[in-house]
Amino acid sequence: MLIRSITLTLVCLSTACLSEETEEPNPSNTSALSATSETNQTRLVMLGTGTPNADPERSGPAVAVVVDDRAFIFDTGPGVVRRASKASRDLAIPELGPENLKNVFITHLHSDHTLGLPDILLSPWVLDRPDHLRVVGPPGIGDMMNYIVLAYQADIDRRINGLEPRDANRDGYMPDVIETEGGLVYDEDGVRIEAIPVIHGDWLFSFAYKITGPDRTIVISGDTAPSQSIVDSCNGCDVLVHEVYSGERFPTRPTPWQTYHSAFHTSPTELVDIATRAKAKKLVLYHQLYWGTDDAGLIAEVRAAGWEGPLESAVDLGEY
Ligand SMILES: [Zn+2]
Ligand SMILES: [Zn+2]
Repeated sequence: MLIRSITLTLVCLSTACLSEETEEPNPSNTSALSATSETNQTRLVMLGTGTPNADPERSGPAVAVVVDDRAFIFDTGPGVVRRASKASRDLAIPELGPENLKNVFITHLHSDHTLGLPDILLSPWVLDRPDHLRVVGPPGIGDMMNYIVLAYQADIDRRINGLEPRDANRDGYMPDVIETEGGLVYDEDGVRIEAIPVIHGDWLFSFAYKITGPDRTIVISGDTAPSQSIVDSCNGCDVLVHEVYSGERFPTRPTPWQTYHSAFHTSPTELVDIATRAKAKKLVLYHQLYWGTDDAGLIAEVRAAGWEGPLESAVDLGEY
């Protein structure tokens, strides 16, 4: 019965409907909690900077962009709802409270980027979020959301038909899903969001996202090998948030993993080439693969590769 009630809104907004591993904790760097929060209307908060590594200091990848009363969440790694709740409390951003988490954009379907989907779909619903969760992502995201609802069918049934007062948001667990193959996916009230196809090994679809807000333009790479599309979409953007792995530590990885990382991810040398040609006004590293180095080491590698502009290695709950 419940299964039949699931409504997934599948829309393709693209033209013609085109149609990871060992790292060191970094608990000390809190300098990222900068004054930018006071001056930018388009706020950028790292909810999670992690990778598949179970680093207790780094939740799974999730980035929040907040404009006025709207929060947009890019990727939902493990821990996303609790990190958002902490940002809501500690950074005084009520838009990141659970009841306001209703706009999600997924870069690709790797588990480290999507394990928080059931969390962000269901936890805020249980906490009386009045709205559906809107989920934008690549082909396959509709099936993923559908299967999540099916997986939690017993829970959903008890919460609706048990003793919990649920009249105000009975169907709040139902996701509204937008599948895209790239292009404009959001354009409302002065905020434009575009999905930018990037190269991530043999994934058919993997996106960066470009967010054009009222005062800043931000590009978030997602997982990517060097991609010309990021150069083209950034094109002088205010902030380029880009993944990176340690080139210095790369030779310590087993040969098959070196092959993998070369095809799926970005070294500091490659990143500097991308960011320079993209004319990024500021470069923020995230989804860092340290393999034994640390933030200072990664910063040094990026500097040695020739990046002279503003640069930070992101930490969870840092604002940039
Ligand atoms: Zn990843
Ligand atoms: Zn990935």
